Amino acid sequence: MTEKTCAVCDDKLDANAIEVKIGTHVVEVCCEECAQKLREASAKGHEQRAV
Ligand SMILES: [Zn+2]
Repeated sequence: MTEKTCAVCDDKLDANAIEVKIGTHVVEVCCEECAQKLREASAKGHEQRAV
């Protein structure tokens, strides 16, 4: 059994976890604030990436 944790702050995820789609895979975070950080980081890190 694996416990899921927030991809941003590493907190344990509960029922309020938010799914953020990054490219082709889905990452789960604990709150909207972390979701926003993840989207921003993703946009910067893969700005010129080919589809
Ligand atoms: Zn978080």
